[in-house]
Amino acid sequence: MKNEKAVVVFSGGQDSTTCLFWALKNFREVEAVTFDYNQRHRLEIECAERIANEVGVRHHILDMSLLNQLAPNALTRSEIEVKDGAEGELPSTFVPGRNLLFLSFAGVLASQIGAKHIITGVCETDFSGYPDCRDMFVKSLNVTLNLAMDDNFVIHTPLMWINKAQTWALADELGKLDFVREKTLTCYNGIISDGCGECPACVLRKRGLEEYLSGGSK
Ligand SMILES: [Zn+2]
Repeated sequence: MKNEKAVVVFSGGQDSTTCLFWALKNFREVEAVTFDYNQRHRLEIECAERIANEVGVRHHILDMSLLNQLAPNALTRSEIEVKDGAEGELPSTFVPGRNLLFLSFAGVLASQIGAKHIITGVCETDFSGYPDCRDMFVKSLNVTLNLAMDDNFVIHTPLMWINKAQTWALADELGKLDFVREKTLTCYNGIISDGCGECPACVLRKRGLEEYLSGGSK
């Protein structure tokens, strides 16, 4: 894979930043794509942009504001509270088909920039009810994209089967633990690095980090 080109679906968060470093290690040339869909915080886009610049990858920002029109929800409408779904329910951040759309557009971009590989940080382990983050879906879409564009894309999901602690371990293996900890934005309240500490994203991130630092993921 070393000699090929890849595009990383990139939000500036812990997971996709770890994937970006994974891609930089594994491919000759890497570009990043961020989807702008009126995120609650412009900070998310700015954070992605800053990281892409810092690591020297070309950064594409695609306007996906139509998602706001299609699916009012906590990430796009500030008046709706972010909360975890009750047992068996989808969280309030759910946009039906969001990842289907993102990965499809990433496929179109990959085709245009001559990238064979598409990397996404989706994960089935911390599975929060998003059907289009499941491994089976990603494999299915990989086949569909290849048929749709008569191409041979390979979608990589380095985080699919690992938990948050193991994602921190991967960042550490790549020599980027401090970078990921200090420069990424996961928090729903738009606070970089360790975040507000209280929203569901911060709680998950912090729990994973503590588990990793205490050796729990080994
Ligand atoms: Zn937070």
